[in-house]
Amino acid sequence: MVAGAYPGREVPGHVPWWQRISVRIGVGAMLVLVAALVVVGWLVTRQEERLYGEQHTAHAHKISSLVAEGLVRRMLAGGGAAAWDGVTREASTYIETAGVGRISVLARNGSVKASTDPSLRGGSIEVAGNPACPGCDGMVPEQFPVTRAVVDAAGQHWLRVVSAVPARPECKGCHQDPGEKLRGLVLVDFDLTPLNQAAAERRRGLLLIGLACGLVSLVLIYWLFRRSVLEPVEVLVDTAGRLAGGDLQARAPVAERGELGHLAAHFNHMVDRIEDQVARLESSNLESGLLYTLVVEVSRNMEMSAVASTVVRVLEQKLAPAFVAFFAESADGTWVCASDRSEALFTGEGALAPALLGQEPLAREALDGFPLSMAQAAVASLELQLGVGGGALHFAVPLGSGGRLSGLLVCSMEGASRVQADEELLANLGGHLTLAVENSRNYTGAVTDPLTRCRNRRYGLARLDEAAYASRRHEIELAVAMLDIDHFKRINDSHGHPAGDQVLRETARRLMDTIRKADVPIRYGGEEFLVILPQTREEDLAAVGERLRAAVGAAPVRVVLPGNVVLEIAVSVSVGLASYRGEGDEADALIARADQALYRAKAGGRNRVEVVGGDDGGQA
Ligand code: GH3
Ligand code: MG
Ligand code: MG
Repeated sequence: MVAGAYPGREVPGHVPWWQRISVRIGVGAMLVLVAALVVVGWLVTRQEERLYGEQHTAHAHKISSLVAEGLVRRMLAGGGAAAWDGVTREASTYIETAGVGRISVLARNGSVKASTDPSLRGGSIEVAGNPACPGCDGMVPEQFPVTRAVVDAAGQHWLRVVSAVPARPECKGCHQDPGEKLRGLVLVDFDLTPLNQAAAERRRGLLLIGLACGLVSLVLIYWLFRRSVLEPVEVLVDTAGRLAGGDLQARAPVAERGELGHLAAHFNHMVDRIEDQVARLESSNLESGLLYTLVVEVSRNMEMSAVASTVVRVLEQKLAPAFVAFFAESADGTWVCASDRSEALFTGEGALAPALLGQEPLAREALDGFPLSMAQAAVASLELQLGVGGGALHFAVPLGSGGRLSGLLVCSMEGASRVQADEELLANLGGHLTLAVENSRNYTGAVTDPLTRCRNRRYGLARLDEAAYASRRHEIELAVAMLDIDHFKRINDSHGHPAGDQVLRETARRLMDTIRKADVPIRYGGEEFLVILPQTREEDLAAVGERLRAAVGAAPVRVVLPGNVVLEIAVSVSVGLASYRGEGDEADALIARADQALYRAKAGGRNRVEVVGGDDGGQA
């Protein structure tokens, strides 16, 4: 038997030998067999005694008649002691020839008148109520002979046949009692000792045979039972124990065709079904867990870059893939790709589909290690691609609406995690990711200035309000920088509006590359930018402003005009900075102070930085 202990549960392991089914059945069978043999032995002995009794009764009756005849004859011839001696002698001859133990003749009162056994002669046998003298109570001639096994005073066993000596008419000469029907009794005793010994021996023999048969049948029953019941049951118990211990691959080998073989087959089938259900449950748990986490996590930050990073992080946690990358197209005409291979995002200009189909180097690098044809098939068909290659399961889930690709999830899974991904899960995942990308695009579109890709003014002012609130509540430093491109009108005037647009976009890009992640760049007006600078100390403002100014003016902006006309346009900004003053201060006032500083910078000759300090607030 298997010890079935498994974590957290106490289950019976070893079965004591006296509780084993085979031992119980074997012992039971042996007891039944021995009891049956004892009963049979007893019945046989009884039958033998009955037959023996019947045979000897007839024989004894005949002897009794002869003895009675002789007795009558002798009595009529004169009687007396000599007559009794003659009877004894005559009886002795019957003993020798008929194998009788002893013969006695009793008077009606029980006195032994003649006997072949000298120890009885002259004695007496009780005739009233004596079981050793059967039939003697009533002395009714018709009921004789009576045969019974008796034990005499010496403890010896006899088969005693009692016959009557009838009262004949001739007897009337001497015996005057008219109602008398019998004159005496003849007891013929057969020695039962040899018979009893033989019976005892037979019983012993039978018992020995019974025990031997019992042992043989015990072994046979055990062997048969072990083969056809115990072993299959043990296999089932072992399998159930392994299953209970968490080994869901355990199955009972179906070795025989009997009921237990069927049971094992049904058992396996049942386990298969349970395993299916568990897999389905796990898959649906995985799916709901994955989708729930995605929805929650993605909604924390709707920026496309944050969405892409979050998608990769959640899939890494939930699916444990060998490789995962997520591409998404932003609303501003760029695409991003987050992957578990690199901390940094891949970003590319233009639409996503051509970048993936045309194998743009960045896109190819992001896809490195994933079957490119599968990714491209997903992009081209906008249909889920799922396949096995190199021992891994690969899938590419295209995201899109209205026939346009908005994103692509590619993933490779190895080993056990492969079974977790099925088409239904991936289709649902695709639906959710499409929604997330769409939401992010809508959101980005609503808060982004399309030309510069900075945040738009409405969104920027809302963020500034939030930042001012946080600064007040948590006493966090807060500052803003207001920037204005110097003599921008001249650029427009000299090179045209499109050139101005390109200068504006490049200026914004240089600004965004310079600021920290927590800073918020806002296109405040035509060529004016507002940058929210959380956690920036007042004493650092001049340096921050200087860094921005230097970044914008670091090099002339390269402008490409229709007809491939390339211009190098020098650009500079004037920067005004101001800090938030906490309780009582307002975002509007903060902007106004930064504006004053900017005005000062312009007035001071442009391409320079001015800071409105805590003391000179309100002064131009
Ligand atoms: P200053 O150094 O005093 O700031 O001089 P400026 O010429 O930069 O200032 P001004 O306010 O006179 O001119 C700003 C110009 O920016 C006027 C407007 O036509 C131009 N402008 C505003 N928005 C855009 C835009 O989106 N694209 C282009 N190309 N020009 C713009
Ligand atoms: Mg200007
Ligand atoms: Mg201006």
